[in-house]
Order: sequence, then structure tokens, then C-alpha cells
Amino acid sequence: MPEDIKQCPLCHSEKSSLFDRRQFRGHQVVNCLCENCGLVYQSPRMTPAELDEFYTREYRLVYQGAEGPTPRDLFVQNNRAASLLEFLAAQDIRPQRYLDIGASSGILLQRFTERFGCTAVGIEPGEAYRAYAQEADFTVYADIADLRDAGEAAFDLVSMAHVLEHLPDPVAFLADLRGDVLTPSGVILIEVPNLYAHDSFEIAHMTSFSAHTLRQVLAQAGYEIIFLKKHGRPRSKLLPLYLTVLARPALSYELGVRGERLVALKRRAGMLRRRVLTKLLPRRAWVPGIYPRE
Ligand SMILES: [Zn+2]
Repeated sequence: MPEDIKQCPLCHSEKSSLFDRRQFRGHQVVNCLCENCGLVYQSPRMTPAELDEFYTREYRLVYQGAEGPTPRDLFVQNNRAASLLEFLAAQDIRPQRYLDIGASSGILLQRFTERFGCTAVGIEPGEAYRAYAQEADFTVYADIADLRDAGEAAFDLVSMAHVLEHLPDPVAFLADLRGDVLTPSGVILIEVPNLYAHDSFEIAHMTSFSAHTLRQVLAQAGYEIIFLKKHGRPRSKLLPLYLTVLARPALSYELGVRGERLVALKRRAGMLRRRVLTKLLPRRAWVPGIYPRE
């Protein structure tokens, strides 16, 4: 049975209101708005055990008969890798030890190694995907506990592309990386869907971030932001579908969460803008090709 989330995952307030209710591939998805800080999060939601089962079932359904990732998957991941590499190049980041959390088929590991000549290690819970990345000779662990058990040294770049929104407790997860997984002078690269342009409300998305709430999550986890960019790459030239952020461990903590206001209004305005641009400039709003809209 899905469980009610009693406290906001960001500010721990118990006051929330209904934000969105919809069907997603046969599942009811309900998102709440924290009345204190403005975070949008799924509640009730599947328990961690139910989520595991869900991933397994969906996975089999989608990849029936295929031993590894599909060509479409690899295409999307290749394009995403190119976009993330550009962001890093613009900031003059050159990692020596790189960790990709949610490494999937290992495309980022491959592209980052080619570009930087760095050591690249992955974490990927999905068995078939992990095996695929391991075939390319990368070290890929099932989870952080296994990485720690193996005694891996800390990394100066950690990436999490489309991972943070899936985690039940994003603040605790990010805080846990500081110190032994990320070096004190290391940087973390995160990409998530943007609540104000992306459909967002999928069954596996525990949290739907705006730029504001993403900043607050990072601050509470002890990070300071180097840059944050709203963009549509590689799917759109116009719509800010994604938030990409580069951050590093902060020297001083920012105490208390700064709340966001008018979240429902901003969501409505953002989705209206998306509909208008899709109608007026369809080929710029959605890059033609194999992408489904998001
Ligand atoms: Zn809150």
C-alpha cells in the first residue's frame, strides 16, 4: 500500500495541500505542495519495496526480449552526455576521478573518460544496465554501500543526471555524499526535470523541483551553487524542461529553508507558455527526431 508522507522532505513541515492528481500508466499519482516552503512532492507514494517491484515490472515490460539498453535509450543518453560535457567545459571542470550515480548503460562514463582521460566509476542498481556498462570494462557498483565496501577513494566529480527526483530523501542523500564520496574540493553535477516546464508528475518522481527548491535542497545538504541553468537540451530549443546545477561542499551552512511563493501560479504560467510555444513554433519547441515529449 502506498504510504502518506507526513513531513515535507525539505523543511519537515506537516502542512501540505493537494497540488496535482493524475493517472500515469495505470497508477494514480498525487502530488502535494508544502505550505511552508513550496516544495512539490508525491504523497501518498509507493514504499521503497513497492518502488523496487514497480521498476522490475516496468523494466520487464519495456525491455522484454532485449538483453541490454535499446538503441533509443543509447541515443538519448548520448545526447544528454554531450550537453552535460558542454556545461562542464564552460566551467573549466577537469575531473581526475569521476563517479556517475545512476550510470545506466555507462554512456556518461564513456564520454567523460574520452574527454578528460579520468578514472570513471558508476553506481547503477538495474542489473541488465549495470552488466552492459561492466562489459565496457567500467567498475559499476549496485549501490553506495558496495562502493564504500570496495574502499574506493573519493571523487572530484560526482554526477546525478535524472536521479535526484527519484530519491525518497534527497537532502539526506546529498549530505551523505560529502566527505568520503565527494572530495572537499570536488563538485557535483545534477540534472532534474523543471517543475515549470516539464510534465514532471510521473509515478517514480518523488519530488518535482523548481530552481528555487533545488537550490534550497542543496543548501540544506551543505552545498553552495556554482551555477544553475534552465534549458531544454537536447529535446527543446525553447522550453526550459531541465535544471542543471553544479555545486560544491559549502564552507558555511545556510540555516533554515527559504520558502517559495506562488508555486501553483508559476506552474500554470509555465505550462501555458509551453502549450503556446508548442503551437506557434513546434519545431523549435520540440527538436524533431525520435524524442517523445516530456
Ligand atoms: Zn517544506
